[in-house]
Formats: sequence, structure tokens, C-alpha cells
Amino acid sequence: MALRSRRVEDRRVVERRLERVLAITRDILRAPDLDFALESIARGVAEVFGFRFVTIVIAEDEGDVMLRRVMHGFAPETIFERKNEEISRAAMIALLDRRFESAENCFYLPAEAEADWERSIYTGTLPRDAPRVTPQSWHERDSLCLVLCDEAGTMIGYLSPDAPLDGCIPDPGELRAMELFVNLMGLALAKARAQTRLRYEATHDALTGLANRSFFQEQLQLALVQARNAPDRASAVLFFDLDDFKQINDTLGHLAGDAMLRVVAERLERAVRSTDVVGRIGGDEFGVLLNDRADAAAVDATVARIQETLVAPATLDNRIVYITASVGITLLDEADQRIEDVLSRADAAMYHAKGLGHARYAYFEQYMLNETKRRLALSSNLRTAVDTDQFSVDYQPIVQLADGAIVGFEALVRWRTPAGEVLPAEFIPLAEEVGLLAPIGRFVIAEAVRSLCRWQKQTENPSLRMHVNLSVGELLEPDIEAYIVAQLRRHGLAPDALTIEMTETAIMRGNTLAFGRLEQLRSRAIPLCIDDFGTGYSSLRYVRDFSVDAIKVDRSFVESPDGSLGSAPIVRMLIQLGAAYALDVVAEGVETAAQAAELQALDCRYAQGFHFFRPMSAAAISRLLRDRAAR
Ligand code: C2E
Ligand code: MG
Ligand code: MG
Repeated sequence: MALRSRRVEDRRVVERRLERVLAITRDILRAPDLDFALESIARGVAEVFGFRFVTIVIAEDEGDVMLRRVMHGFAPETIFERKNEEISRAAMIALLDRRFESAENCFYLPAEAEADWERSIYTGTLPRDAPRVTPQSWHERDSLCLVLCDEAGTMIGYLSPDAPLDGCIPDPGELRAMELFVNLMGLALAKARAQTRLRYEATHDALTGLANRSFFQEQLQLALVQARNAPDRASAVLFFDLDDFKQINDTLGHLAGDAMLRVVAERLERAVRSTDVVGRIGGDEFGVLLNDRADAAAVDATVARIQETLVAPATLDNRIVYITASVGITLLDEADQRIEDVLSRADAAMYHAKGLGHARYAYFEQYMLNETKRRLALSSNLRTAVDTDQFSVDYQPIVQLADGAIVGFEALVRWRTPAGEVLPAEFIPLAEEVGLLAPIGRFVIAEAVRSLCRWQKQTENPSLRMHVNLSVGELLEPDIEAYIVAQLRRHGLAPDALTIEMTETAIMRGNTLAFGRLEQLRSRAIPLCIDDFGTGYSSLRYVRDFSVDAIKVDRSFVESPDGSLGSAPIVRMLIQLGAAYALDVVAEGVETAAQAAELQALDCRYAQGFHFFRPMSAAAISRLLRDRAAR
């Protein structure tokens, strides 16, 4: 059924309309966000031109996808269902090009073709032979489309009013008025859209799309207010720091590092509720604000779920990479005044968790703040320590159990500060974090090789060996292998004079990258010893997969309160394993004669520990070797 033409209205009506249009324009320009602006336009079109339904479809960015954003007048379920439907801008523009008879930016979409063009704008393909529609042939079921353009005339979306209240089709004059209105709206919208984008950019991290630091803090501020108003519904703050992320960046490159961060961001977002906030605090640090989660059990469950999703292998650059995170947790409470305090609590807890190993979490406790203070002081002192030679190397002899002969040494780095000695277990992770482990590690290697050369000459024993510990970070330094080889050459030592010690867990964490590097060292005939053997969980695999030369039975299996051999069955098993693969087996942490005797009875060849020698300075070793030679 063709409809009657709408009567041209009198001036008063036109004036009233104009006022309304201006009011809407002002609204839009002041709109807090894009959605609000779109709602105003839809409502405006419905009111001013008298339509029951108004749909607005708009592009989010320069890409092809446009999203259905507003459907004014529809039932809430329909709006919910069809909101954000994707529509191809290219198909829409192509439709415009074969413009149906219409005013400039207005055209009719014919009902007969609707199924076709709807499909085409969803799939981006053009309907073939869409029939032409004119106002004269306009049908009740046909849709009217008004194109929204920005200043540059680029289509940013379209608006489609439907079901005229008076049942009349707009005549050309009316159409022209609508078109002017829509042109104006297009400009206002483009502005609102730009503002929304600016706001988004200011509050989100460009790489991951997560809340950025300042926005995360804003959300935290809201949570603080909430904690004060409703203490029983307080929130929890989780701080995530990726374990060994630096290695991924350093070895796979920054693009892969970025990809990893995106993977983590996605996994974090998927693991929490939509009401929780996930933010990127910086570098490889993420924050999660669990709203309304006062009880620790619920927080525990969430953390467990997140940890679980994080450990799944990720494929970067065709390589399988594993990632874990250390998590610090703090609960907000009504006494909390400043977000800085909350953040530093979460941070302190996170560092504490990191100290426990990988993939661990910790709830904040007061003493952790002191740890933070000490760590900060240490890491700033580390920098000067490198420049002022505060590092030295001690050596612990490795002895042959059968006769007590010294067969080699383990080089152990020492840091003596004016305020006392700092243990390697404390400063090595710190040095690694601030990027200072490489110079320290190289210093140790250079010293160790130099000392070994001296001792080989002194004892006229060229089979004396030196063991040096390497962390994964050091192993992955691009030219570490060349450095070691150069140091050995410089002192005329054979490649097998220096053994690299790496812990099982370190090798495991280093992923495939570390494996490759170990192979390289092996190809240079530099021996590899697995340190702290038995504490990792796939001991056997490493022994089989790499040509390992030696294993060090972890101290925890040797020690016991009464000084006997602690876990004799495990030690026996490890020694047999070593024999099966023709490896040298060194037992570490031997503190008593009883342990030494038991180990020897189990056919363990080598040992190291306070029972024989404590680690000592190079000068002390020289003296020791001289005394022994004189005996
Ligand atoms: P590690 O490689 O397992 O070294 C053995 C540790 O056990 C040393 O602690 C040593 O002093 C100690 N130890 C030796 N005999 C006994 C004993 O009979 N009883 C007890 N209770 N302890 C004994 P240290 O020097 O504090 O080093 C701790 C860890 O720090 C080392 O464990 C190693 O993983 C790391 N480390 C030390 N020096 C370096 C280094 O130059 N580079 C790297 N990357 N790591 C190092
Ligand atoms: Mg060691
Ligand atoms: Mg060890």
C-alpha cells in the first residue's frame, strides 16, 4: 500500500523543530560519551520527525566494521539482542553508490531487497540488482536510511528511522529537513566520537586495551570509598608480576614480548568477572581489582583460577612459551585512606611471593613493607657496588670422597657492603631484575677462570676443574658462550675446564630458548652440571635430553637433624641414575663425617660441604693448595 504524502507544516512547527534540533545538538556536544550522544540523536529524530523506531549504526574506528549501537523504541530484549551487530561499512558505501532515488544522503532501502541487503551488509557483499525505490513507490515496510558523515564527508554510520507516527511518508521537503538534521548530527557525532576516543586513549593501555595505571587507580579510589561505606563488601587488590618476562623480551624480541603481554591481558580478563577491573600497571605488571570480594576464600579461588589459565602454554613466533606470575594480594578495609598505601601493600606482597619462587602468591603482612625497604636500598646499592668493586668470588673445593683429594672448585659470588654481607640468594634475583646480573656474572666467570689457571699451574694438575653457576637470564645473554670461550682461551684452558651449573628449575623455566643455548654450550664442549638435582619435577627428562655431564644431589636430601644422611633412598636412587647415564655425581651440603661415609658407601664419587671446606677466598685456596702440596 502506497502512503499519502505528508503535508508541509506551517512555520510555527518548523520553528519549534529548529529549536529542538539546536537543543539536541547542544546535548550531543556536551554528551559525556558516545552512547549518550547516540541516544540523544535517536530520541531527537523520533521526536522531531515523528517516528516510532530509530536505529543508529556507527563505526567504532577507521575499519570496515560498523556496530548497531542504538535502537530507539524497541523492546529492551530486542535491543539487547541486536545491539553491537556488525555491519560492513564497505557494503553500505557500495549501496550508497548505486544510490536509490533520494536526496543527497538519504535513501530508501526497499523491503523486497531487505533480506538481501541485510545479508550483504552483514557479510560485506553486495546485493545483486537491488531494485530502485522512489518516494512514490515507497512502501510501509521499506526503510529509510540517512547517512552520517564527519567533516571530511567520510561515512561514519547511518541512521534509520522507521514507522512514521502519522503513517505518512516524508515528502521531498521533509526529507531535506531530515537530511540537514542528520548532517548536523554527523558533525556533532564525529566530535563526540573523537572525545570518546581521547578519553579511551587516556584511560587505557594501547598495547593490551586494559585499564592503564591512572585509570586503575581511579577505579581503586572508587573501591576505597566503597570499602568505607560498606566494609563487609570490600574489594581485594591483586598485583601480578610476570616471572622471567625479561627473558622472553630479550631472546624472542620485543614483538613477541608484546604478544605475550596481550595473551596475559586476555587471560586475566577472561578469568575475572566483568565487574572486576584488570589494569596494566606498567611493564610486565598487572593489577586486578576484585570488587566486592571481602572473604579470602573467594579471592583464593580467583587467584587459583588465574594462575591456572596463565600456565597454559602460549605460542609466540611458532615457539611454545610458558609464563607464570607472582601475585601479591591485599584486602581493602575501611581504614584505608590513600591508594598509594594499598598499592605499596600489594607490591610488597607481590615481591614477597616472588621471593618464594615462581607462580606463587602471598597476602600482605606488615613485615613485608620492611622487605620492600631493604630491597629498594639494596637495588640502589647494587649499582654502585658494580662500579666500586664490592663483589668478590669465594671458592668451595669439590673433593673426591675416596681419598679427599681436591678435584675442583665451585665459584660463589660474594657481596660485602659496608653494612655487612648480602647473600647471593637475596641479591642475585634483584640484580637480575635491575639488569645488573650480566656484569656481575661476567666478573665471576673471569675471576674463576683466572683463579683456575693459577691453581692448575701451582699444583701442576691440569685436571683441576672449576664450576660456575649461571642463572637463566645469564644463559640467555646473547654472547655468553663467546665470552666463556674467550676467557678460557685467554688463559689457555681447555673448554672442559669450566663446568656450567644450572638449577633444574632454571632450565625448565628457560623454555625452549634455554635448551637451544645449552646445546650451543655443549657443542663447544663446555660441560653442564645440573645443580640442586632432584628438586625439580622432571629430572629424568633433562638428563636424557641434554648431554649432561654431572649432577649435584641437592643439599636437602643430604641434610638431617642428627647429621646422618637425610634421605638415603632418594640419594641412592639419584646416584644410580647418575651411574646409568655415566654422569659425575656430586653430593652438596655434606656437613658431617657420617654423611660423607654413607655417601661413599653408596658409591657417590664427589662431595662438597662444610665438612670438607667452607667457601673461601682465592688467597685462602692458594694457601690451602700450597699446604697440601707440602704435606
Ligand atoms: P648453589 O649453587 O647450590 O651453591 C651452594 C650453596 O650452598 C652456597 O651458598 C654454599 O655456600 C652453600 N653451602 C656449601 N656447603 C654447604 C654446607 O655444607 N651446608 C650448608 N648449609 N650450605 C653449604 P651461597 O654461596 O649462599 O649461594 C647460594 C646460591 O646462589 C647458589 O646455590 C647459587 O645458586 C647462587 N649463586 C652463588 N654464586 C653465584 C654466581 O656467581 N652466579 C649465579 N648466577 N648464582 C650464584
Ligand atoms: Mg651451584
Ligand atoms: Mg646447589
